[in-house]
Amino acid sequence: MSGAKTLAAPVPPGGTIGILGGGQLGRMLAQAAARLGLKSRVFCDNPASPAFQVCDAHTVGKFEDLHAVAAFAKACDVVTFEFENVPSATAEHLAEIVPVLPGAKALRLTQDRLDEKTFVRSLGLKTSPFEGVNTPEDAAAAFEKLGTMGVIKTRRLGYDGKGQAKVTSAANAAAAIRAFHHAPSILEGFVDFAFEASVVAARGADGSFAAFDPPENSHENHILRRSIVPGRLTAAQNAAAKHIAKRIGDTLGYVGVFAVELFVMKDGSLLVNEIAPRVHNSGHWTIEACAVSQFEQHIRAVAGWPLGDPARHADAVMENIIGEEAADWAKYARRPGALHLYGKAEIRAGRKMGHFTQLSPLTGR
Ligand code: AMP
Repeated sequence: MSGAKTLAAPVPPGGTIGILGGGQLGRMLAQAAARLGLKSRVFCDNPASPAFQVCDAHTVGKFEDLHAVAAFAKACDVVTFEFENVPSATAEHLAEIVPVLPGAKALRLTQDRLDEKTFVRSLGLKTSPFEGVNTPEDAAAAFEKLGTMGVIKTRRLGYDGKGQAKVTSAANAAAAIRAFHHAPSILEGFVDFAFEASVVAARGADGSFAAFDPPENSHENHILRRSIVPGRLTAAQNAAAKHIAKRIGDTLGYVGVFAVELFVMKDGSLLVNEIAPRVHNSGHWTIEACAVSQFEQHIRAVAGWPLGDPARHADAVMENIIGEEAADWAKYARRPGALHLYGKAEIRAGRKMGHFTQLSPLTGR
């Protein structure tokens, strides 16, 4: 990509941060920008976007509409995004008009599970066994080679378990490729982990690095249910998780917040499952438990400001409020803790409607 704009100087208070995507992550980014005296402008295709309720200006448009995207970019000092599936043509077009952070490289890499896992492995970091598969025959052969239970995942556009199928036989693996309409995919070995964790970290424009303490995460129906910090990670595993994030961030020349999803193995080792080039659901507890949240940290990084202190001043349990659970908002409102509701127009099954963070005194680790 040629002619990509870079940030020549920090965006001063009063400047405008552009955010592609208007969901809850965009909403919390806009709220964090406001705290620093920065304005936010959100671009999204959904006229009822939660972020529109809290930003300074918004554009309703298709992410593929390069004219609309260009007009939006001209009103911003820097543009960032809240989701990784920004079309690459859009990101590249934008980058010729305004600095886009994190850059196109991180976006391109994390949009494709095969490229991402290959990159992670090239850094000497551990992953599940994996292989790219394009046809039902490939998938069957890869399954035979793997010789154990696996997961077929489409290389692109999967999230919250969409575009994923657990497979227990070669015939199963072949059928999964057919069910995904022959989308290029990967077969991964099924990992018998002890538990899941993640590390949310930031890299500044000056190469500085700051990681939040890694929470232990649990999922239900492929959706994050709960993040607990400190979880069961030992001090050595905390340090190892942060080191993994630093390797990844430095190698990519990344600017902004990103998350690395980890499998913690029974022997104590850490496997990298996935990189998210954005703020992450498992970092929502930082809003209350840290002086500078993941959202503020991301805004600081992309605006060229110094990173804030990621130290935790409390233990925290963050639980998502999913689908119909949001109808019980009054129950959450009575509980001691911090309630966040995202202002979504309607409740839908499996939809993240809000989250609740409970703090307790710091126990260490
Ligand atoms: P992903 O979309 O890759 O983040 O996967 C979503 C969730 O599915 C993970 O957080 C795990 O709970 C589970 N999962 C994904 N891949 C594997 C695997 N190879 N082995 C075991 N569980 C997995």
